[in-house]
Amino acid sequence: MTMQQQQYPRTSGLAIASLVTGLLGLGLVAVICGHIALSQIKKSAGALTGKGMAVTGLVVGYVTIALVMLLMVPMLFIGARAWKKGSDRAGCIMYQRNVQQAVRTYEVANRLKPGARIDWGKVTLPTGTSLTQPCPAGGAYVISETIPSVGDMVVECPHAGVPDKHEPADHHDW
Ligand SMILES: [Zn+2]
Repeated sequence: MTMQQQQYPRTSGLAIASLVTGLLGLGLVAVICGHIALSQIKKSAGALTGKGMAVTGLVVGYVTIALVMLLMVPMLFIGARAWKKGSDRAGCIMYQRNVQQAVRTYEVANRLKPGARIDWGKVTLPTGTSLTQPCPAGGAYVISETIPSVGDMVVECPHAGVPDKHEPADHHDW
């Protein structure tokens, strides 16, 4: 008998690592360790044991990864919806400000007073802005026909109230 044949089989360290990391919830580490352990055990021709632990670590690791992914999908949806809501609001308020500024410029240039009728043909709106465009979140704007008093908005969004709050936070001097 040679020395090698006399050695007892020893347990694969990676198989133990796979089981332990799997139970700790480190899915990816468990899967990687489990795969390497299984391949080393196979090549060792009996010198390494721990196949059961490696397989358990692998299964637990894959289940953990699957659960994490299942949890992440709805979170991504919630995140995307929140982002869309914020960007709709920002776009809407920018539109309201653009129209308001255009009307104030028109008011000053024509020496008009609040309450005077707006001749929209003479109001210069920024490029890409039109009176007929809807709010980014949907719904038509209500556009005043007369010049509003300072602090009043010429454009009103159907989402002006809560929860969307499509109204500039502070427009008392607009
Ligand atoms: Zn809006």
